[in-house]
Amino acid sequence: MTQQAETRTSIGFFSYTAIKNVGHTLLDLLFPASCVHCGRVDTGFCDICHADLANFPTSLYITTTETEIPVAATGVHQGILQSAVQALKYHGQPTLGIPLGQRLAQTIQQLDWTFDIIIPVPLHTSRYQERGYNQSQEMAVEVAKLMNCPCLPDAIIRTRSTDSQVGLNREERLRNLNDAFSAQTELINGKMLLLVDDVQTTGTTLSMCAEAAIQAGATAVYGITVTAAT
Ligand SMILES: [Zn+2]
Repeated sequence: MTQQAETRTSIGFFSYTAIKNVGHTLLDLLFPASCVHCGRVDTGFCDICHADLANFPTSLYITTTETEIPVAATGVHQGILQSAVQALKYHGQPTLGIPLGQRLAQTIQQLDWTFDIIIPVPLHTSRYQERGYNQSQEMAVEVAKLMNCPCLPDAIIRTRSTDSQVGLNREERLRNLNDAFSAQTELINGKMLLLVDDVQTTGTTLSMCAEAAIQAGATAVYGITVTAAT
């Protein structure tokens, strides 16, 4: 039912909606939305920063820290790249998945990796419902389109909700993510995969996803992220 239809059928709901809308308008006047990167009053990521992001050169970072798979990043987790990832992830800007996916595709084209399918690092269902989208999937779909390769977001699922990895040592990170991912054998067996994620800090998440994929019969796994933490 549309909001308009709801307001016609329920006086109580109408009153609530009207008050809520007035509240939002007042909040918007008092605290207008501003760009995550430059602070300009705008939506979460302004047009000028969008243009800067499009022109920001990719720098290929290949890392192997803790991962047993080759992982590349398009730059360091700072400046406009960090802001764009934050806006995509935490400030309701899923369309940033398009320019960020383009960066990922440009970087992959510099590599000699061969893969059959693209899989975004999954969110747990509870986090997905809270955010309304999976930021890695928004990028993976764009990469898949540009590289003419299937994207299978359900091929790996997160079977349980996990705590943030921030501040944990290696052993704690591994324990935190142990058995957190499950890969679908019928989609993955015999395939070479590219995993897509937003940020790479220690690589534990990509490693655990790769492990689940290899157990399900993947023959090769690569990872790509927008940024790598230094
Ligand atoms: Zn801006």
